[in-house]
Amino acid sequence: MCGERKGDESILYVVATPIGNLEDITLRALRVLGEVDAILCEDTRVTGKLLAHFDIKKPLISYHARSSQHREEEIIQALGEGKCYALVSDAGTPAISDPGSKLIDAVYRSKKEIRVVPVPGPSAVISALSVSGFFGNQFTFYGFFPQKKGRKKLLEEIFSSSRIAVFYESPHRILKLFEMIQNEFPNYYQSANMFIGRELTKMYEELVRGTISDVHTHFLTRDRNIRGEFVIIIYPHS
Ligand code: SAM
Repeated sequence: MCGERKGDESILYVVATPIGNLEDITLRALRVLGEVDAILCEDTRVTGKLLAHFDIKKPLISYHARSSQHREEEIIQALGEGKCYALVSDAGTPAISDPGSKLIDAVYRSKKEIRVVPVPGPSAVISALSVSGFFGNQFTFYGFFPQKKGRKKLLEEIFSSSRIAVFYESPHRILKLFEMIQNEFPNYYQSANMFIGRELTKMYEELVRGTISDVHTHFLTRDRNIRGEFVIIIYPHS
């Protein structure tokens, strides 16, 4: 039984889940996950573990980045029959560099009486920004930094803007990113500020702040085997 339902409407809750520390789940997320008819999730094993931790038993339906349009139509058809579903991703807020937007767009386009309801909570981008101490109300979130093509062009855009730039980057490419900034943008390498939030809310959480050169040195002096999940923030004109 869905507590937030009006009449016999269908609801798609978009539910944020922890990015590491399970205590970050919200009371509302727990209630909603316990009330819905089914939970749409990226990886049933990951979400299964989360639910088991909170002793919630619900049918899980796989919905991920490679799900077809046909699959979305099936989900919307079933949901539209007066059901309540929750959409979650492996961690954080769905649809933020995670699957979700295509399904939500298809729900609106379907013109069915399905209410989309946000259940806000953790997100790596906002968590990192909140502790960066960089001020200014405007930021640009770039999602995942491009893997190959377009890296230099994007850096040009970031350094020519006055906005704070936030992006996700894999640990395998982080040293290459520093090297590119050092070689192609030496002035910004020395003067612009950077913040890195690594493994936020987890046991090995690390916050590193300084000029880009300082932050680079910090990671170089460890070892080349950099691990974990990273949010990078560049404050181009501090
Ligand atoms: N939807 C998620 C959100 O709202 O944060 C982001 C999902 S995206 C597929 C995963 C990326 O987010 C990771 O590669 C990393 O860059 C960042 N991320 C997720 N959890 C993190 C954490 N605990 N600490 C730092 N970065 C994290």
